[in-house]
Amino acid sequence: MRLFDTMTRAVQPLQSADGRKYRLYCCGPTVYGPAHIGNFRTFLVNDILRRVLEVADLNPLYVRNITDVEDNTIRQSLEAGLSLEAFTSQWTNYFHEDCNTLNMLTPHEEPKATQHIEEQINLVGKLMEKGHAYQAADGSVYFKVDSYPPYGRLSRLDQRELRSQVSTSGGAPNLADNYDRSSVADFALWKSRKPEDGDNWWESSWGQGRPGWHLECSAMSMKYLGDSFDLHSGGEDLCFPHHENEIAQTEAVTGKTFAHHWFHTIHLLVDGKKMSKSAGNYFTLRDLLEEGWSPMVIRYALISAHYRQQLNFTKNGLHAAQSALQKMEKSVLRLLDIAERRKQDLEELPLDFPALMKGSFSGSWKALEEDLNVPEATGAMFSRLKEIDRSDLSMEQADTILLEIAALLYALGLKLFTAQPKPADVPEEVKLLAEQRWKAKNEKDWAAADTLRDRIKAEGWAVKDTRDGYELEAL
Ligand SMILES: [Zn+2]
Repeated sequence: MRLFDTMTRAVQPLQSADGRKYRLYCCGPTVYGPAHIGNFRTFLVNDILRRVLEVADLNPLYVRNITDVEDNTIRQSLEAGLSLEAFTSQWTNYFHEDCNTLNMLTPHEEPKATQHIEEQINLVGKLMEKGHAYQAADGSVYFKVDSYPPYGRLSRLDQRELRSQVSTSGGAPNLADNYDRSSVADFALWKSRKPEDGDNWWESSWGQGRPGWHLECSAMSMKYLGDSFDLHSGGEDLCFPHHENEIAQTEAVTGKTFAHHWFHTIHLLVDGKKMSKSAGNYFTLRDLLEEGWSPMVIRYALISAHYRQQLNFTKNGLHAAQSALQKMEKSVLRLLDIAERRKQDLEELPLDFPALMKGSFSGSWKALEEDLNVPEATGAMFSRLKEIDRSDLSMEQADTILLEIAALLYALGLKLFTAQPKPADVPEEVKLLAEQRWKAKNEKDWAAADTLRDRIKAEGWAVKDTRDGYELEAL
């Protein structure tokens, strides 16, 4: 398996350093509101990466954190009149519900920053001991960027000629949890207690305060994955300053390579523009569900572009995703029919990963293995399905193909036949006619069943029998 590495700017093979588990860490959500579809694009790409690592027998250990203490969570919990814990728990649950809706696998570990304050304080202590941090007049502790010469390698700061802006301890350090790409400055490891923090402070050797945002990912990834691990990921916007700061504060302490591979997902555009609330093109998952899009259509649309290409998310894209899934379902339905299986059997088939690698869909697998190329994988899947649609198959052949498809769907995290047709779409009288026809059919009253089918047709609907019952489709 190979993947593009932001640090070396090259596609690199993936191997676990310890030969047992592939250890990966993804920067998770900051829980003060619903995650938007841009966040979910990143989390979905990471979900597929974790699934593909599993298929490739690399035994992933996937950690994704919950950021529950930083400027926004504190301010908004106070505005809501809730404790930080109560406020962020609500949004954490909301996030988990969204992840389940999108059929994302639960990470093996999901540490919260507030539950790792001690680990963060210890890390600040070590940085102070080694001379990489200092306490400023405001009581906060800052990382001294000049004390770590490799700073900026990941985002190529030297090439952006920003190096000269790096402040020394005499300059103005940066207290904000996040800041834009134009300013490089000493960043806060420990923020001294301020009135606007409310009750959200902890005791430390440097007085009362709270950790800076960048620190948690170093402390938690080290705790769950070790000083040095296989892959670190996140959205491209985290490359600088967040990931640069993580590298600096960790490697300054351990002297080891923090992460061997850096994996970033390019952000999406909506209708060709950067998503923003003011532009009116800002969507959460639930906005799209309310519009009637099924979770799998949304998942498919969000994974449809290569992770290194900008995805332009549009309503046309959702329609395209819908028809792609319907096409897949049609081919699979025929296979199920030949194999004399029901729809739900697809979910229950054993996951045979070697069958995916070597069988009819090996082209799709190769695309996933080579830099996680989802569009090429689905493209190869459709060309293969087209051939399969035209072939005469025995029951055994259909069964083998279904087994391979089940493994490929698992790798992509797609579930078929899950879209709930909107009940309001089918008029009551048509539903009634369809019920009557189904009854007539079961009573083997073929003449009545045919008459009812014609009446349904006259209302503009087609009734189709399936192994599990019947479906109504608008004509
Ligand atoms: Zn992080």
